[in-house]
Amino acid sequence: MADQIGLQCTECKRRNYVTTVNKKKQQKKLEKKKYCKWCKAHTLHKETK
Ligand SMILES: [Zn+2]
Repeated sequence: MADQIGLQCTECKRRNYVTTVNKKKQQKKLEKKKYCKWCKAHTLHKETK
């Protein structure tokens, strides 16, 4: 049931995290504030394939 998605930094466009979401429950695009080791800061990460 769970789909694997990547979380991409909106600053440097690098894919830093992989997580799983339930697409039935998670309708809209995932956005999370996470630490980016490339930016060396907490940035907004968005769902990517
Ligand atoms: Zn970054």
